[in-house]
Amino acid sequence: MAKSRIYYTKPSITELEVEYATDAARNGWGDRCYEYIVRFEEVFKKYLGVEYSIATSSCTGALHMGMAALGIGPGDEVILADTNWIATVAPIVHLGAKPVFVDILPDSWCIDPVLAEQAITPRTKAIVATHIYGNLCDMEALLAIEQRHGIPIIEDAAEAIGSVYHGKRAGSMGKFGSFSFHGTKTLTTGEGGMFVTNDPDLYETVLTLSNHGRARGQTKQFWADMVGFKYKMSNIQAAIGCAQMERIEELVSRKREILSYYKENLESLPGITMNPEPKGMVNGGWMPTAVFSPESGITREKLQVLFKEANVDARVFFWPLSSLSMFDDKPTNKLAWDIPTRAINLPSYHDLSGKDIKQVIDSMTDNLYPKNANRSKK
Ligand SMILES: *Cc1c(COP(=O)(O)O)cnc(C)c1O
Repeated sequence: MAKSRIYYTKPSITELEVEYATDAARNGWGDRCYEYIVRFEEVFKKYLGVEYSIATSSCTGALHMGMAALGIGPGDEVILADTNWIATVAPIVHLGAKPVFVDILPDSWCIDPVLAEQAITPRTKAIVATHIYGNLCDMEALLAIEQRHGIPIIEDAAEAIGSVYHGKRAGSMGKFGSFSFHGTKTLTTGEGGMFVTNDPDLYETVLTLSNHGRARGQTKQFWADMVGFKYKMSNIQAAIGCAQMERIEELVSRKREILSYYKENLESLPGITMNPEPKGMVNGGWMPTAVFSPESGITREKLQVLFKEANVDARVFFWPLSSLSMFDDKPTNKLAWDIPTRAINLPSYHDLSGKDIKQVIDSMTDNLYPKNANRSKK
């Protein structure tokens, strides 16, 4: 029997998003051309518990402007985990700075703070803390480094909406935070992002940069005070974002529900670990990821074959950025180089049915653990 394809991500768009987007398309012009943008920024910053927010065309744009506002440029170094999406490193390179890749922790797959601190040189301008797959970085250790060395921590929270670190939301703790609303993310506007900060000066600088370098108080028309960027979100995208924010609890709780269902069924099998949720933390559950122990002998390639046969759209764990052709190989980042060879991202979109999840789990147990087959819970 042919099984219908199970996709790994898909946005959840209801009548509410359609209604707001339609209203923006119909009425959101002239005097009202920023209404949804302002509203989206307001609800987002309240949700996050921060002072300032700027909606952007992407997370990459938010990172680019934030890093530019911190004065990162040629000759500078920025430390980040080798395990990262390309978007996190691209702005560093565009600004002419040098990315310094360090290894990750074995359980959270996020930057190792000890190695990050060891990598600091007189040229270090920032450390990027990416909360990978919704897992939280060790913010206590990272913020202590910020204190000790005066080097800002940037939180790339693109994958971590809904993740909470001891009562504080991911993205709200660093010098600034960035979010993505790309179609694969928990909250989507199609394309889009958000810059957030509690620093009034940094906010003003990014606001100016985001408006082609035109300062807020500038009264001269068409007058730019510096060369800026054009990374704005449109009002129509923001309208969809406003609807998604009204549903944010629902969107995050479904992600968490799917993650915990996978964890319940898979973590009892030998040699599998998944996204952690240590005491005091909430994992937003953006991307359920299974990592197999080296002893299990289960490889990425074996998993890809298995899921291809099961018609399941599972994705590989991020390649270490230092393995890409434009950077120098750094295989001494052992975990960042090794974990992806024995890991896989599992489907987790909002409307994924219980039956679909069971099918994903069964395709793993049947093939990898035949003795345990058909034991997944309903
Ligand atoms: C998705 C993602 C980004 C980029 O987001 P865009 O909105 O596509 O620019 C950046 N960092 C991480 C960790 C991501 O997962």
